[in-house]
Amino acid sequence: MTTPSRERLPVLPPLPACAEVDLGAVVANWRRLKDEAPGAETAAVLKAGGYGLGAAPVAKALRRAGCRTFYVARVEEGLALRADLGPTPAILVLEGALRGAEDMAAKDIVPVLNQPLDLEVWSALARKLGRRLPAVLHLDTGMSRLGFSAAGFARVDRDDAAAVDLRGLLSHLVAAEGDAERSRRQRRDLMAAGALLPGVPLSLANSSGMFLGQDFHLALCRPGIALFGGNPTPGRPNPMRPVLRLTAPVLQVRRLDGPASVGYGATHAAPAGSLIATVGIGYADGYLRCLGGRSVARIDGVEVPVVGRVSMDLITVDATALDAGRVRPGVRAELVWGDDGVDRLAEAAGTIAYEVLTRLGPRIERRYLEGDSRP
Ligand SMILES: *Cc1c(COP(=O)(O)O)cnc(C)c1O
Repeated sequence: MTTPSRERLPVLPPLPACAEVDLGAVVANWRRLKDEAPGAETAAVLKAGGYGLGAAPVAKALRRAGCRTFYVARVEEGLALRADLGPTPAILVLEGALRGAEDMAAKDIVPVLNQPLDLEVWSALARKLGRRLPAVLHLDTGMSRLGFSAAGFARVDRDDAAAVDLRGLLSHLVAAEGDAERSRRQRRDLMAAGALLPGVPLSLANSSGMFLGQDFHLALCRPGIALFGGNPTPGRPNPMRPVLRLTAPVLQVRRLDGPASVGYGATHAAPAGSLIATVGIGYADGYLRCLGGRSVARIDGVEVPVVGRVSMDLITVDATALDAGRVRPGVRAELVWGDDGVDRLAEAAGTIAYEVLTRLGPRIERRYLEGDSRP
């Protein structure tokens, strides 16, 4: 009798849940958007850590491809990006100048001024520093969120305005992917305000807005989600390349020898003989809890339903369509793959691609596929 070998582990230790980010596809998407708006500058919106996929690697790839302007939401995001990118590219902070104004001035970060109070803070700092500080003004044309109201814009303090170096006037579309009439009204209002600031570059289009026609491109476009493969033209074929592939390891496989419930709350009843695979991703990773019973994964090229509730760290899939040899611990399950993968998962969750991407948690390892990024 020989003792069982202890030298060889039965399986390779599984890698954790992993977001593969195709930087070549991000760059291809940026170029595709640039081609859509040949007369305008195409910037990149990288708020929330580059829509959850990593602001620094994405920004570096885009800068190599020729992108010169980056938008983020928060001061901290702007400062981090400045440290990563060095002094040249323009970095704009969408949330205004109320927080971190001194830091922004020191690092040549341009705040988007959203209200008279932002202008007050920024112009006071300019006077204190004895130089005009760059800024972009945000006019609200229908969001009722951030931005100067029409009345606030009309009452802008002359002295405050003279203390800043106005680099642009922007507004943000309410329903770029649907309500064309509303978008046209917003454009008209932005143009009217812009006429009072001759020579100041105007900006209106987000990803979807870029597909509303040349009239919407103005001086500068601000795409975000389309860079990451989200469809900017819902209902029509997606012109963008997929960027994210999300995978997680199968941790355990069970062949049910009798009928059994699966997961918390016993919401799923599986018949005898079902092959249930448990996969190492859960709602704490951003695989939304509402996806239980509503989404599919893919193992070895075969789509399998996600069954039972999504747990904090785990999901369960019914892999009966596969034979047991093809699904075993260590095998990778794909949660997002292929064209429109993010949009499909978002739809299953009753949300939008933006939320799926930005919820991807810190436990998910980001891996970057370096692609062609020549200018
Ligand atoms: C997020 C954002 C964008 C980018 O929008 P997408 O729909 O992701 O292209 C552009 N402008 C502003 C002001 C934003 O907040």
